[in-house]
Amino acid sequence: MRKKLVIGNWKLHGSLLENQALLNRLKQELHDIEGVDAAVCLPYVYLYQAQAALQDSTIAWGAQNVSQFTEGAYTSCISAQMVAEFGCTYTIVGHSERRALKLESNQVATKRLLNALHAGLTPIFCVGETLDERDGGMAELIVRNQMLNVVYGLDSQAFALAKKLNMVIAYEPVWAIGTGEHASPEQAQRMHAFIRMMIAERDREFSEQIRIVYGGSMAPQNAESLLSMPDIDGGLLGRAALVAEDFIDTCRIAS
Ligand code: 13P
Repeated sequence: MRKKLVIGNWKLHGSLLENQALLNRLKQELHDIEGVDAAVCLPYVYLYQAQAALQDSTIAWGAQNVSQFTEGAYTSCISAQMVAEFGCTYTIVGHSERRALKLESNQVATKRLLNALHAGLTPIFCVGETLDERDGGMAELIVRNQMLNVVYGLDSQAFALAKKLNMVIAYEPVWAIGTGEHASPEQAQRMHAFIRMMIAERDREFSEQIRIVYGGSMAPQNAESLLSMPDIDGGLLGRAALVAEDFIDTCRIAS
C-alpha cells in the first residue's frame, strides 16, 4: 500500500510575508491529518524560511530544480548539494515549464536527477505530453522517451539510490497545467499504469513501491476522482497549492 503524497509547487510566487502566513497555516492544519505525506517546493531563496518554519512540522520541503553541475563557474546555478543543506527532502526535476523554455533536454534532466540522488534528495521527476502530441496519438511515446533514461540510463548504483530515496514520478500533461482542464481520471490512470509498467521492466519490486503523482489543474473539486485510481499516488499542485484551504482540503481527501 503506497502512502499518498501531495506536493505544492509554488513556482514563481511568494514573498517573505505571504509565505510565512501560508506555511504557518499549513503547519497548523496538516498536523492532524494522518495517512498522507505533504510537501512544498518553493523558490530557492525561501528554502531557509521553509526550513525554519517547517522543521518541527509534519510537512517536508524542497526545491523546484537543481543544477546539472556540481560546482564551478556557472553563474546563477544552484547545486543539489546546496539545496540539501537547507534540510530539503525533495526537488522537482524536468518540469515541463523548464523543458518548454528549452532549458532542459532529457539528457540534462537526467544529469539533474543524478545530482539530486547523490545529494540525498528525493527527485520528483516530471513527464508529460503536449496537446499536439496527445492529439497526434503520441502521448505514450513521448512519456516513454522522457522515462527511458530514468528506467535504463541509471547505472545500478544510481538506481539503488533512487529506490532507497523513493524517487517520485509526476505525470503532468502539459495541456492540463494551469488551464483548469485536468486529465480525466481514466486518462491519467492509463498513463500512470503505463509508467509503472515501464519501471517494472527494470525492477518489479520498485514499480510497486514508487509513487506516481498527477499534476495539472488538480484541486479539491477533482482530487477525489483522480486519487481513487489505483495507480495515482498523489498530486503535484500548482495554483491550488497557493491557497491554504485548497491545499489542505486536497491533503485531507488524499489521506
Ligand atoms: P497547476 O496545478 O496550476 O495546473 O500546475 C501544475 C503544475 O505544474 C505543478 O507542477
